[in-house]
Amino acid sequence: MSQTRLPRILTAALMLAALGVAWLSPVPEVRVLFVGTGHPDIAADKPRMQSGIVVDVGDERWLFDAGAGVVARMFDHKRPPHTLTHIFLSHLHYDHCLDLDAVLLLWRTGGPVPAPGQRPAPRPLTLFGPDGTEKMLVDLYDAAYGVDGRGRVLLKMPSFKRVRIRDAGVFEGKGYKVSFREVKHANMDCWAVKLETATKTLVFSGDLGGPNNLRAADNADFSEWAKGAEMLIIDTLHIPPEELAKIAAQVKPKTMVFSHLTERQLPIFKHYDLEKTLALCSKEAGKVVVAVEGLELKL
Ligand SMILES: [Zn+2]
Repeated sequence: MSQTRLPRILTAALMLAALGVAWLSPVPEVRVLFVGTGHPDIAADKPRMQSGIVVDVGDERWLFDAGAGVVARMFDHKRPPHTLTHIFLSHLHYDHCLDLDAVLLLWRTGGPVPAPGQRPAPRPLTLFGPDGTEKMLVDLYDAAYGVDGRGRVLLKMPSFKRVRIRDAGVFEGKGYKVSFREVKHANMDCWAVKLETATKTLVFSGDLGGPNNLRAADNADFSEWAKGAEMLIIDTLHIPPEELAKIAAQVKPKTMVFSHLTERQLPIFKHYDLEKTLALCSKEAGKVVVAVEGLELKL
């Protein structure tokens, strides 16, 4: 055998072995549960909590966003915070992170009752946050909640890891991977997230649009990145129906789920028209779904 062929044969054998391992590892099931489907203005007669989605992938559990009211809904639907393994915060508008401190406290205390003299030993948790997340946590736990120093303990726990999304690259989970894409929204650091198994792709847009970015073209990069997702969970609040339809036409998701919904017409979102959005997007997506809290979807 020639010496030039040997490395090629070895490379091919290694690739086949890697493929074999990939085929043999079970593909984790992905389940999506909506725990917050509204926005900052919670209507008194039809309350929707702020932004929050629990995503189960195999035996790992993600929370995408932690707006006000999300913690209570997590308990309502049997996903208490201590069962989380990962949190993704799309951005730091408070309707996406007001319940973060409650989630973290309940993650720390909510597991098995510790033995006398022992501290709770929660499941390791990693928080992926936009720029400013660490400062927000320090401001909260060192200053606002720093009266007796308990908050500082939480921030120093080795089982609570923080990752700046901008530096995160691709996260490799058990049988899945998670990647992030910067999106344009209200001139702040804002991210979309994509979770992929060997067979399925879920994309959550975070917030798109805002005062200066109401056109789909402003987030064309996002649409290209999300193309072909089985499920696209989209911000319905900030972008007009015609522009949402352009995103649907480019992504062509099997299921398009509309969240970040409002139950009353507000002057700042005068373009909002859910019925028109559904009518236009149903021509482009396989199926359109309006999110409600407690709705559970399997990919
Ligand atoms: Zn926002």
